[in-house]
Amino acid sequence: MPAAKVVFFTDGVSESNRLVKESLEAHHLSWTEKNISTDADSNAFIRKLCGAIASPVLYVNDKWLPDPTQEELLEATGMRFDVESLETRGQTIFDVIVVGLGPAGLAACHGARLGGLSVLGLDENEPGGHLLGLTDVDEYLGVGYDDSITGREVADNFSEHARHVGAVLMRGKVNSIRIQGAFKRVHSTGGNFWARAVIIATGAAQRELKIQGVEQFLNRGIRYGAQVDAQIYGGRRVCVVGGGDEAMHAAIFLGQHAKHVTVLCPDDNPSAEPLLVQRAIGHKVRIIPGTKVVAVKGTDTLDYMFFVEKGIPEEQGLPIDAMVIALGPAPKTPIPGLERLPQENGYFAHGEGGKTMFGGIYVAGDSTNIEIRTLMSVVASGSLCAKRLWQWLASNPLPKLK
Ligand SMILES: Cc1cc2nc3c(=O)[nH]c(=O)nc-3n(C[C@H](O)[C@H](O)[C@H](O)COP(=O)(O)OP(=O)(O)OC[C@H]3O[C@@H](n4cnc5c(N)ncnc54)[C@H](O)[C@@H]3O)c2cc1C
Repeated sequence: MPAAKVVFFTDGVSESNRLVKESLEAHHLSWTEKNISTDADSNAFIRKLCGAIASPVLYVNDKWLPDPTQEELLEATGMRFDVESLETRGQTIFDVIVVGLGPAGLAACHGARLGGLSVLGLDENEPGGHLLGLTDVDEYLGVGYDDSITGREVADNFSEHARHVGAVLMRGKVNSIRIQGAFKRVHSTGGNFWARAVIIATGAAQRELKIQGVEQFLNRGIRYGAQVDAQIYGGRRVCVVGGGDEAMHAAIFLGQHAKHVTVLCPDDNPSAEPLLVQRAIGHKVRIIPGTKVVAVKGTDTLDYMFFVEKGIPEEQGLPIDAMVIALGPAPKTPIPGLERLPQENGYFAHGEGGKTMFGGIYVAGDSTNIEIRTLMSVVASGSLCAKRLWQWLASNPLPKLK
């Protein structure tokens, strides 16, 4: 679409003129500015056109727009959102941009579309988030109770559903989010976009194990997270560090492939769902509670790990071939521009429905101080967030350009 030719007659000072300028910037439109307070010819021209001094007045292509509304401006400049075509992306204003397409973000995309909003979802990876690493999904109602569905399948179903209702899902790592007047500007590796509102659903990070030797053997015997590959661990002696759901998922899976699996749980009791712990305990899986891993050692390959067990003063050594670190979630550093959002223990704090102190910025899922980090709770948080957001948008229409 060719760029609109815009001439902007302004008085240079009043609020309505400032808003028009902001809106033009928001749409990446370039324009020629004529100041009717300082330029006699422009002043005379506007008097003739309007019968009196008026501003702002825009000339867009062949159309005069005295004091246009946002809608009129979008119409005249051809910047109306068109879900079929993203050619004008970067110049399109979405109602909402969802950052992070794990289960919380995908639920938010779906919910926002049901509210009739134009939705762009961005993720630095393929949609699915943590779900992609699950060998099977246990705790989502009506899904996976017979171990028949993988996390990836659930992730694909979620993203297909979000797309089906009209959400645009794209790849892009979001590097910053800036509030500019009534709009939010989202910079990503997939392009720069504008929206009225943003939902942050960037999830949590992996808690690190900071002990001697981990860095040396990372990805050479040691890996983070439960996304484990059967072929790599087949017939090997594996140790899983952690006591939560993630650690138990890894242990259950590894128990089917490895020679034997030792779970070193840092707490006195595993924090995972009791049912998962029961499933994990088997002839190949041994759980040792109250342990602290102190070092890993090896020459070319990983050979040993050392740990201290509660009630036993001596350090113990365990021969291992591989280690999976699954210590659960840790907060992520906020995306630049969101540092001022209040946090609790490093997670975004929020009001009802994911509302934050910034109008039009909502948070959902594992990135927040949500109490229970499960699929069901993060999906619920994403959809509630979307609903609250469309209510917010309805009660906060764009200011009239006056
Ligand atoms: C091993 C394991 C097993 C689990 N098993 C179950 C289970 O059986 N049942 C259950 O109910 N729950 C389970 N859970 C919990 C559940 O998976 C999580 O609570 C859920 O995935 C969190 O969803 P989320 O959308 O908030 O975040 P995530 O799933 O972490 O998604 C966040 C997304 O944001 C993206 N992102 C982050 N930063 C950016 C950025 N700057 N720009 C663009 N994109 C970005 C990431 O790429 C990611 O896709 C399990 C969790 C783990 C780790």
